[in-house]
Amino acid sequence: MNALEKTIPIQPAPAASEEVNLYEIRKKIYPRAVTGLFANWRWGLVFATQIIYYGLPWLRWNGRQAVLLDIASRKFYIFGLVLWPQDVIYLTALLVICAYSLFLFTAVAGRLWCGYACPQTVYTQIFMWVERRIEGDRALRMMLDRAPMSLRKFATKGLKHAVWLLIAFWTGYTFVGYFSPIADLGYRAVTWSLGPWETFWILFYGFATWGNAGFMREQVCKYMCPYARFQSAMFDRDTLIIAYDAGRGEPRGARSRKVDAKAAGLGQCVDCNVCVQVCPTGIDIRKGLQYECIGCTACIDGCDQVMDKMGYPKGLIRFTTENALAQGYDTKRMWRRVFRLRTLLYTGLLVAITVAAGVSLYLRNPLKVNVMRDRGALAREAQPGVVENVYRLQVMNTDATPRQYTVTARGLAGLAVSGVEQPLALDAESSRIVPLSLQAPADEDGKARKSSHKVEIVVEAIGDAKVARREETSFLFPR
Ligand code: SF4
Ligand code: SF4
Repeated sequence: MNALEKTIPIQPAPAASEEVNLYEIRKKIYPRAVTGLFANWRWGLVFATQIIYYGLPWLRWNGRQAVLLDIASRKFYIFGLVLWPQDVIYLTALLVICAYSLFLFTAVAGRLWCGYACPQTVYTQIFMWVERRIEGDRALRMMLDRAPMSLRKFATKGLKHAVWLLIAFWTGYTFVGYFSPIADLGYRAVTWSLGPWETFWILFYGFATWGNAGFMREQVCKYMCPYARFQSAMFDRDTLIIAYDAGRGEPRGARSRKVDAKAAGLGQCVDCNVCVQVCPTGIDIRKGLQYECIGCTACIDGCDQVMDKMGYPKGLIRFTTENALAQGYDTKRMWRRVFRLRTLLYTGLLVAITVAAGVSLYLRNPLKVNVMRDRGALAREAQPGVVENVYRLQVMNTDATPRQYTVTARGLAGLAVSGVEQPLALDAESSRIVPLSLQAPADEDGKARKSSHKVEIVVEAIGDAKVARREETSFLFPR
């Protein structure tokens, strides 16, 4: 080796540059149809949620839409209940109840909401059902997609999209029907006289349903849903998950029904891939718990059918917990641990908040009163020896029935109400501002009064003493 070779190291030839794509290219998933116990439950939930969603706005109650969130007039009608902006506390309570329910269900049974009741899952399931009816099951759909465009392919795809769009826009129309009377909305839709916002929301919601359930599907759950991101914080080793029992299934391998698995040194997984083919997110549950798993249980049904055919016990893939799998708990022990301190705490809080909100709603006073002093005329002598204060009285009847009220005042000897109609009549769900005068003698037992007195104005519904409000204000005497 000469001196030059010693001092100048030989540089390796630069590697050819390689472009790395930071975005995963989506592989289209063709889930195979599956039937079974859990599929029946899933369809039951689809029917239940959709009957409620599509049917509720058509229900009538006391001559109007039973559930109407009338944002324009700032009133929410829920059957016999009318909620006003002042009742925002109940909306807050509802959101807290929903959040705690989600915490509880997640702590007990993982992604139960995702797999069974989330609108994304429910509409994807409906859209996939339509797809299967028109294009066929997995293998036929794959063949159709691979085939070059033809009249048949064009007609099949066109029919599928026509049905999808029909469902999607009916969904959008129903959604807007919760905010604008639905029958009238339908009439205005067919006569092309919808308002701009109604048109926008029907189109927006319709296209979102079409896009999310028809095209995006599992990508919404994998990349867009925030719940999927933080729910792992609510899981622990005693949360029910859908898991493959590797101890029972491995070593996996294909075999005929007649082969004795034990003698052949095999586990009970026949490596048929059915669990992967039925999975709407395209994962292999045998690789362990993955964030893409939405807990839909399709793989349980798929695998159970295979187990039945092979004559093995069901449940190679099943609802279980990480602890139960690792420690080999029996079902009783597993369920005892599912109802642990954390879930009992969530249940207790949920029950307490629900009961408190329910009781408060039941006792809700449908009368709201506000007293404002007339700043232009603080106190004046109405007649010799009698002082008058003038106010503005705002009375709101949030009930669905008209009412009449008496207005009285107390807190000062000789105090009398004048200048307001008695009884004060209010229509259902209406508010009135009326002038109100209070009069009181300037002297009490020959002595001049203090300059300011606290007084109480009482508004009480005729025929229902429980519907009453007392508002404090001040009564002034001129100095
Ligand atoms: S792994 Fe099973 S439960 Fe999870 S998404 Fe796939 S089919 Fe559904
Ligand atoms: S369906 Fe069951 S038997 Fe078939 S590959 Fe999946 S786990 Fe194995």
